Amino acid sequence: MSAQNPVFIPGPTNIPEEIRKACDMPTLDHRSPKFAKVFKPAVAGVRRVLQMEAGEVIVLPSTGTGGWEAAVTNTLSAGDKVLTARFGMFSHRWIDLCQRHGLDVQIIETPWGQGAPLEAIEAALRADSAHEIKAVLATHNETATGVRSDIAGIRRALDAAGHPAMLFVDGVSSIGSMPFDMAGWGVDVAVAGSQKGFMLPAGLAILGVSPKALAAMEHATLPRTFFDFRDMTQAYATGGFPYTPPAGLIAGLAASIEMLEEEGLENVYARHARFAEATRRAVAAWGMRPCAATPELYSDTVTAVVVPEGCNGTDLVQLAASKYGMAFGVGLGEVAGKVFRIGHLGMLTDAMLLSGLAVAEMCMADLGWDVRLGSGVAAAQEFLRTSGNHAIAQAA
Ligand SMILES: *Cc1c(COP(=O)(O)O)cnc(C)c1O
Repeated sequence: MSAQNPVFIPGPTNIPEEIRKACDMPTLDHRSPKFAKVFKPAVAGVRRVLQMEAGEVIVLPSTGTGGWEAAVTNTLSAGDKVLTARFGMFSHRWIDLCQRHGLDVQIIETPWGQGAPLEAIEAALRADSAHEIKAVLATHNETATGVRSDIAGIRRALDAAGHPAMLFVDGVSSIGSMPFDMAGWGVDVAVAGSQKGFMLPAGLAILGVSPKALAAMEHATLPRTFFDFRDMTQAYATGGFPYTPPAGLIAGLAASIEMLEEEGLENVYARHARFAEATRRAVAAWGMRPCAATPELYSDTVTAVVVPEGCNGTDLVQLAASKYGMAFGVGLGEVAGKVFRIGHLGMLTDAMLLSGLAVAEMCMADLGWDVRLGSGVAAAQEFLRTSGNHAIAQAA
């Protein structure tokens, strides 16, 4: 029995015991056929989770940020134009990465709490009659504000404008926890990381790459070596890896996908939607609101809670850590202090979620915020006990 509380940061997430054990393996000779036995099921599983058809899965020893870098360096050249919107810390960081690589980033500034602005994106694509925009970048789930963007809508905007740009999607905090349809949405590069929906330690960037992006790779001149998809795909074809792979993490990835599919991906997504709704009911009972401006923007994996005037969300996060040993997310960038974040993704049960809401409430009371103890917990309890699939919680 571990005395550690569950974490409520939006990644890294709680690591289930089965996955921790799967990562803990004896040294493996990665040039032996044993490696392919570990690697192939992981790659095949990622393909199913991403709902990929054609194209390649790339697994890199890195994190989500490295996945962003791999996406752009493998497909673009210095000076290429990309189109994106900035509406939170993660969309901002991807923009910053692109700019540091010498890309010409056309940025649609969007208020934090909003998602990718479809009309403005379509207008920018229509205005680009010379087709200078090589890629549209989208953050599926903006982890800083708890906002989900409509990726299918961006695909429709591209198609409506008759624009051939590639579509790159950061799904680091959505993939494995929220529906993701790479083929259906026509995504050219999807980026995930191991430590969020896949419930693993940090250490892998996981990408889905479409045939169109693979073709772009042949002409792209941004420098890359460690992240070069050409080396990866060549080695994969023979069941190998171009350098020493983090075999334990890859074994863990296969175990993670096995767990997700045992529950059923649809059930996994429904569980996250339930937890998000339960969390929002608690937030409403506290007299607060999510940072996401409207219900269709609500994330299923993280809720950024706007704290009342005169309160500081970071105080709550610090007190929760120091007094109760529980981790919540602080507000980042523009919303620093104005929100605190409750991550509700990965390995989580009804009972675990309630413990987080209860501790958040105790911190509010300790800080003298005008919140009645039990109010948010009761609202979440009422919702959780009357909704959803409790068999999963019992199995856990
Ligand atoms: C966590 C996260 C990242 C960054 O991932 P790292 O693994 O920390 O490099 C990127 N995008 C989103 C949306 C995230 O939530």
